[in-house]
Amino acid sequence: MNSPLVLELKGNSLDDGPGIRTAVFFKGCPLRCIWCHNPESKSVEAELSVSLADCIGCGTCRKVCPSGAADPSKPGIVDRTKCVRCFTCVQSCPPKALQRTGTPMDIEDIVRKCAADKPFYDVSGGGVTLTGGEPTMFTEWVGELAKKLTEAGIRVHIETCGMFNYDMVREKLLPYVSSIYMDVKIMDRDAHKKYCGVYNDIILENFRKLVADSEEMGFSFLPRTPLIPDITDTDDNLEAIAELYTETGVTKTELLPYNPTWYVKTEKLGVGLADELKGVKSWQSNDKLEHCKDIFRRRGVDC
Ligand code: SF4
Ligand code: SF4
Repeated sequence: MNSPLVLELKGNSLDDGPGIRTAVFFKGCPLRCIWCHNPESKSVEAELSVSLADCIGCGTCRKVCPSGAADPSKPGIVDRTKCVRCFTCVQSCPPKALQRTGTPMDIEDIVRKCAADKPFYDVSGGGVTLTGGEPTMFTEWVGELAKKLTEAGIRVHIETCGMFNYDMVREKLLPYVSSIYMDVKIMDRDAHKKYCGVYNDIILENFRKLVADSEEMGFSFLPRTPLIPDITDTDDNLEAIAELYTETGVTKTELLPYNPTWYVKTEKLGVGLADELKGVKSWQSNDKLEHCKDIFRRRGVDC
């Protein structure tokens, strides 16, 4: 059974599904969206995060690095072409400017930690959110986790990009899920490939199956669209998404305004920002947001 690395167990979350929740962020995603707010969640491998602002220039990393990759006098501190990701420097860095992203965790350990907050889930209608990254990349393992959480009386919510093997997810994971948020980003097939790294055929097929199964299997389902300026927030794209919802009987959606504060993470991971986003420095205006929402409301889709 393929086990994922965990990026974070975020307690007391109000943003990752209904009620008060613990969000479990897994590492690894089959998509490569250029606007991904969690770029550290794309790779399934552990990575080194470098915070230049926190470095005090003590030179310890240079002394302990076995491959000559760390040098605080060089731009970026770590030469990633030489770094072998041994993470020796992480323990040695006094201000913790160097961090490992991605830690292995046992299912039992996660259940135990999450169960400590069960009273808060119960009073608020919350539970545990499995997110990432893409939790379905590890369907068997995550399904086992969802099963154990359900047995502990904890409701499980998942957030997915929709790119997965449907039959496997239906068998191993969906029986233990009470609610799902799924991203619907771009309807045009080629544009989806260009901005998200894969064609959207499987995603749209899985969308239709999830809508159908939500009634049969009894989980709630909410499709959401991140509003990326001039990429997903165009009238043409939103009209096409609204049409899909009308056709499949979806009556509610959520639009997620663009938030550029994640750019700092690209520096920490030593990855670049896509050219398309370099000029984008602020959220959509309220007028633009209302315009986007109206496209759905006109078709009877609440948002
Ligand atoms: S992770 Fe290892 S190889 Fe990479 S910079 Fe740190 S000590 Fe050097
Ligand atoms: S050990 Fe940490 S604080 Fe010291 S030079 Fe290296 S990155 Fe900077």
